[in-house]
Amino acid sequence: MKIIDGKAISTEIRAELRERSEKLKAEKGITPGLAVIIVGDDPASQIYVRNKARACEELGFYSEVIRLPAETTEDEIGEVIDKLNADEKIHGILVQLPLPGHKDEKSLLLRISPEKDVDAFHPYNVGRISTGDYGFLPCTPAGVMELISRSGIEVSGKDCVVIGRSNIVGKPMGMLLINASGTVTVCHSRTNNLKEVCARADILVSAVGRADFVTADMVKDGAVVIDVGMNRNAAGKLCGDVAYDEVAPKTSYITPVPGGVGPMTITMLMRNTLYAAEQAAK
Ligand code: NAP
Repeated sequence: MKIIDGKAISTEIRAELRERSEKLKAEKGITPGLAVIIVGDDPASQIYVRNKARACEELGFYSEVIRLPAETTEDEIGEVIDKLNADEKIHGILVQLPLPGHKDEKSLLLRISPEKDVDAFHPYNVGRISTGDYGFLPCTPAGVMELISRSGIEVSGKDCVVIGRSNIVGKPMGMLLINASGTVTVCHSRTNNLKEVCARADILVSAVGRADFVTADMVKDGAVVIDVGMNRNAAGKLCGDVAYDEVAPKTSYITPVPGGVGPMTITMLMRNTLYAAEQAAK
């Protein structure tokens, strides 16, 4: 059994990104710029936003955090997005979700220019992902694909099972695995015989959001297990979806939580921001 070290792989990719970014600056005089809009004061969102700004700083990117009060209207957020769409210093825009209140997140995400949509949530970019004609890649699934490929794991021809069908993780994860020529099953809360389906997987990706959800009897001997879940256990400790102690000995590769998929997501956001800046320089 090998533990996939997401921190080490993330550090390796960030070094590559720094090099690409310095080249862009030297050759075209462009510094990649990311704007993050945060509405309200949700503590988890504050931490995510801080980490994104810190990653920008580390890579020498320009970053702006636009903090808006919880009562900001959709129209007002839309106007901020319009300004950022027109701002040449900014190559990537993201709205930190969830938004407080009952705001129409979909229509706000649609307002972000597809060329600056570094979360890859805009239907234009979702469509490109489904056709395999990549521009931006959705950050968490793209991070999983990097963990798999940089660990030397072949996807082509493998039985891949994804648990979860959210627009952010499960669905695009399935799409990227299909594009890599895996044979993919995407499961959800209505899936029949989930245990049996999972136990057939050569590569099992869990994105459910429940501690100890994936147990040893759901995992084939020698499978690759990727744990996207980020949960708190009864003791308040960060954990994934996988009952790690009982599952790990059965696997050929497994990602830990923390230190697996988590560190990759922001790194992929940085990659998308750099890609946007490179495209703008063309
Ligand atoms: P989500 O929108 O709540 O989706 C959860 C999915 O799990 C849904 O598709 C749901 O099915 C499915 N599910 C729930 N109970 C199930 C059951 N008993 N059997 C089978 N499927 C079941 O969550 P998400 O945004 O995709 O996130 C999933 C997890 O990944 C969370 O823990 C989140 O914190 C974590 N996450 C981590 C990162 C990272 O950077 N590491 C990034 C994003 C998310 P239905 O569709 O039928 O309801």
